[in-house]
Amino acid sequence: MGITKTDFMRGMQCRRMLWLDKHRPGLRIIPPEVQARLDAGNDFGDRAMGMFGPYEEMTVYLPGRQIPDKTAMLARTQEHLLKGTPVICEAAFSDSGNYCAVDILRKTETGYDFYEVKNAPEVREQFVRDAGFQYCILTRCGLEIGRIYIVIHGPDEMNPFVPVEVTGQAKEYRQWVDEKIRELNRIQESAQEVMVKPGWQCHNPYDCWYSGYCHDGTQTDEEA
Ligand code: SF4
Repeated sequence: MGITKTDFMRGMQCRRMLWLDKHRPGLRIIPPEVQARLDAGNDFGDRAMGMFGPYEEMTVYLPGRQIPDKTAMLARTQEHLLKGTPVICEAAFSDSGNYCAVDILRKTETGYDFYEVKNAPEVREQFVRDAGFQYCILTRCGLEIGRIYIVIHGPDEMNPFVPVEVTGQAKEYRQWVDEKIRELNRIQESAQEVMVKPGWQCHNPYDCWYSGYCHDGTQTDEEA
């Protein structure tokens, strides 16, 4: 199947969450306030695309649906890498089925820098791990990556996009990410539900959308 950036982040929070995403996604209940935060984050990300001026966006949807057409996005990204486009947004990369779309990829004299956009007032460790996953996929695809930034939401609403460099920390995650990608691929391919007992991970770093299912009291401790 392959692991996406979202799979990676969710699987690192809870292996069972990843398994449910792949096998029983209909059990998700997304609270309206969480959906509103996700929408605000998407809006912030869309606006950040222009932070370096003109850009090319790689997003392509499957006909009639709001689901990314990854194959088309990968092909479009390759076209723009070959053309030498200076700023590529939602640049798509895949290695052995593992996939990420980079918020902003910016050409440099020696390769590329990339920017992960987060609608948050400070850099959090999970953002750096997210960047570490992207670094792993990009280098596996043969890109030369220089600097890595998290773009946070600064206090100036006229210019809220504040890049914070995390190059060293994100690159240090490379080997760890390689190992976790292998583990998470095994988990999502498991035919049997991967059981994890509800606990601290249900709310850290994000509230889990399967809380109602895992906490419904019909499963014994042994099962959970
Ligand atoms: S509710 Fe808790 S145990 Fe269940 S999938 Fe979510 S994080 Fe995992």
